[in-house]
Amino acid sequence: MDAITIVGGGIAGLALAATIDPDRFHVSVHEQRNTLPTVETSLAMWPEAQQALDSVGILPVIRAAGSGFDAMALRDASGKALIRAEVSGVIGVSRTDLLRHLDAAVPESVTRVSGAVTSLPAAGLLVGADGVHSVVRRAAWGPRARERLSPYLALRGIISEPVPADTAGEYWGRGELFGIAPASRQRTYWYASYRSDLGPAGIDVAAALALTRHRFSGKAAGIGRILAAAAPEGTLAQRIWTVPALGRYARERTVLVGDAAHGMTPNLGRGACEALIDAVTLAQLLNSRPLPEALTAYNRRRVLRSQALRLASSAMTRLVLTESAQPLRDRILSLAGRLSRAA
Ligand SMILES: Cc1cc2nc3c(=O)[nH]c(=O)nc-3n(C[C@H](O)[C@H](O)[C@H](O)COP(=O)(O)OP(=O)(O)OC[C@H]3O[C@@H](n4cnc5c(N)ncnc54)[C@H](O)[C@@H]3O)c2cc1C
Repeated sequence: MDAITIVGGGIAGLALAATIDPDRFHVSVHEQRNTLPTVETSLAMWPEAQQALDSVGILPVIRAAGSGFDAMALRDASGKALIRAEVSGVIGVSRTDLLRHLDAAVPESVTRVSGAVTSLPAAGLLVGADGVHSVVRRAAWGPRARERLSPYLALRGIISEPVPADTAGEYWGRGELFGIAPASRQRTYWYASYRSDLGPAGIDVAAALALTRHRFSGKAAGIGRILAAAAPEGTLAQRIWTVPALGRYARERTVLVGDAAHGMTPNLGRGACEALIDAVTLAQLLNSRPLPEALTAYNRRRVLRSQALRLASSAMTRLVLTESAQPLRDRILSLAGRLSRAA
């Protein structure tokens, strides 16, 4: 039986381990984290990612626990809705729930190894599912594929209150973003992003939260309410890293999935979705074709699409967090909103 070593038991690694045929491969998953993330956050799951969850066999439980994004609005910093949108088909999913259900879907035949991988195994197929700071990518793709630090800080968390009336949506200010969305169990998911030189490692969450409260003070009332309720222990603060363009995700006996392959800015809400699609696509190809053919087909199916999303996400980040073009952007959005209402 062929061996597959998966480095990283996050969203991509677990989805892959859950869908590879255990009768054809001996799979091991190495994960450095001992527990599920302690701070709960939410992930937008687009329809294609829901299909991937269906292939893993966990779509019904994820849907049952998820929340809808029905009435969202794109707003200016004061909270005025520029465009209102019915977002159909996208669900909000707790990252912890997703990891728990993916973990439960992994067959018992898969070997679990705890601890950080530092030296890479030589035999069998090696899968880098180890996120944006991937050791597998660094070893096989070299220093030019090193992750890059963006100038942006992201904070996010869930508060135990339902979304305040008419506040859901994204608030685009001058060089700053705030998001408010429903989370499961009648709670509210919030996120904020802006340029910052905090970190990149060891960010003091309480200080970052205080800075964020100061930055958004006097802006929309809904933002103030949510930031007042947010506590440091329920907040995640991190700098955003991305992976440069890669022309291939598989070479010889090494293959990358998820953020290890295409870590992107979070503004399209696609990273975890693409990680799931990578994993399920790779598993289906490995289960049904000889290895070299499966890896060639994986490159063909996944690289262009995920690289296009990576670029689109960066473009979106520049648009959302622009400073100099903010007045023009808001005038165009306002006009687009008026036109769509008139239509
Ligand atoms: C602010 C923000 C908001 C986001 N919102 C969304 C969203 O709404 N929708 C969406 O689809 N995506 C979103 N994303 C992106 C999403 O979080 C990532 O794309 C997703 O987590 C990638 O999954 P992954 O399994 O590839 O990597 P990761 O989640 O990073 O998992 C990698 C795993 O590998 C382990 N690991 C790393 N190195 C080693 C090692 N050497 N040895 C052993 N284990 C190792 C880690 O502990 C981790 O468990 C967001 C990201 C951010 C930052």
